[in-house]
Amino acid sequence: MNTFTNVTVLGTGVLGSQIAYQSAYQGFEVTAYDINDDAIAKAKERFAGLAKTYDAEVEGAKGGKSAAALERIRYSTDIADAVKDADLVIEAVPEDPAIKNETWRKVGEAAPEKTVFVTNSSTLLPSSFMEATGRPEKFLALHYANRIWAMNTAEVMGTSKTDPEVYRKVVAFAEEQGMVPIEIKKEQPGYVLNSLLVPLLNAAGALYANGVADPETVDKTWRIGTGAPLGPFQIFDVVGLTTAYNVSIMGDETSQKFAKLLKENFIDKGKLGVATGEGFYTY
Ligand code: NAD
Repeated sequence: MNTFTNVTVLGTGVLGSQIAYQSAYQGFEVTAYDINDDAIAKAKERFAGLAKTYDAEVEGAKGGKSAAALERIRYSTDIADAVKDADLVIEAVPEDPAIKNETWRKVGEAAPEKTVFVTNSSTLLPSSFMEATGRPEKFLALHYANRIWAMNTAEVMGTSKTDPEVYRKVVAFAEEQGMVPIEIKKEQPGYVLNSLLVPLLNAAGALYANGVADPETVDKTWRIGTGAPLGPFQIFDVVGLTTAYNVSIMGDETSQKFAKLLKENFIDKGKLGVATGEGFYTY
């Protein structure tokens, strides 16, 4: 028997839609919440798209399983209704502290006592809004990577107030959901993955911005020297160059130089990475 039965996902954007669909695909009863009917209409399109992607990329999805997942998702635009029977609430609303706090305040008031809460925030520490939930002992982070059916890590990170028993349940849930749980012992900005990846990408951007080496040379060095399948500029293309720009423009002088190169040489020419068929490389 699964650790949780009813899973509510708040926000059905890029990540929320994937989390909701993957949960339904693995047999959980899912409620997908978003702010209005337009957002729900978009969510339905995303879920239909995900079913097709699973058919193409996930073994065993064809022949009914991907379609059956769609039947296990109910929709709601009312937060109290969305969480009323939830065993687990997974929050994937925009990365804005005000929106997160307000969302958790409402959920904390409406959810039954049994409900466990997790946030998928990439850059905000869970302790920064644990009090808003009204039940910090049942609140922690469960952080997924984009394209969760393939990049299936789930970083589990509690706060100093998270009950260890609740933490264990969330680790078990991640496994049942088809993820590889990454157990993080204390709060760390960037979790494990981004603590490693961000410095690598920054260093690569600096080598290019300072005219030390071309992207192809940097990537080749990293691939041959470490055996990694992708170099940092190939990773930039996957992440998307707009995101890379938004992060770099906030950084130091070298990062800003890299951001300007990204804008002039790529973004302004519509080359945004894998999503548009061209970035540092052509796809
Ligand atoms: P997104 O903008 O694609 O989706 C956000 C969704 O939340 C939208 O559907 C929006 O309508 C909805 N929403 C719910 N309540 C809202 C409110 N009160 N105001 C406005 N919108 C509201 O965002 P995303 O990329 O899916 O990111 C969501 C969370 O997941 C963030 O915390 C982010 O850090 C995290 N995350 C994102 C990625 C990624 O690659 N995009 C990876 C890991 C984690």
